[in-house]
Amino acid sequence: MIATNGLVDFHCHLDLYPDHPAAVRESDEAGVFTLAVTTTPKAWPRNHELAQATRHVRAALGLHPQLVAERASELALWDAHLSETRYIGEVGLDAGPRFYKSFDLQKQVFQHVLQRCAVAGNKVITVHSIRAAKAVLDHIEAYLPPTKGKVVLHWFTGSKAEAKRALELGCYFSINAAMLDNERHSSMVTAIPLDRLLTETDGPFTKTADRPSKPADVAVVVEALSRLHGVSTSALAATVRNNLRSLLEPNGEGY
Ligand code: MN
Repeated sequence: MIATNGLVDFHCHLDLYPDHPAAVRESDEAGVFTLAVTTTPKAWPRNHELAQATRHVRAALGLHPQLVAERASELALWDAHLSETRYIGEVGLDAGPRFYKSFDLQKQVFQHVLQRCAVAGNKVITVHSIRAAKAVLDHIEAYLPPTKGKVVLHWFTGSKAEAKRALELGCYFSINAAMLDNERHSSMVTAIPLDRLLTETDGPFTKTADRPSKPADVAVVVEALSRLHGVSTSALAATVRNNLRSLLEPNGEGY
């Protein structure tokens, strides 16, 4: 296993581990630049508080599409916290069978989120797009001009043509190990230029060695991506670190 110091986990649910403060501390001590996403704006204050005390962890303000059916009313709370953070997520759309009935409401919420981010400017947004790649890209194109914010597509499983469209819209992609286990998805990932790649675990929703993945397990993704692109793990890790830096420009504050 490669050293974890300086790796990037740009999408992890640290507040969903049994011991949230310990999960934050562990990821900070591992030196993994971790974006702690949230699924409801009610989770933001505590995530923000814990992340602020670290060097490597930052919190993102989210309203998960799978929770929109029950929690759309928390959108006002999301608005209220927006000025406190540069990082937004998890947000997006989910057209899977369990969530399709709220799809219209999800679209209204996602449109609102993107429009508010565009007005505020300079936000970095981690976006969910299960079975909704086209609708997600349509929304980004319509409501978030590339000069007004940056999008990282998390666990993107669209087609190569959709990935190409996302690249043209300026999107980055955060790749996890589960994506690379799937032949169709890994072939799509291979088509993404190295300068748009980030890495993620989506812990605790993915597994590493039969336990929930932790940010340090993002090393597995770095190794897999380095094999896929025929470069060394250290070169791939440096590329991802540089991509994080570019993503956070022009005012690269944050990390
Ligand atoms: Mn997630």
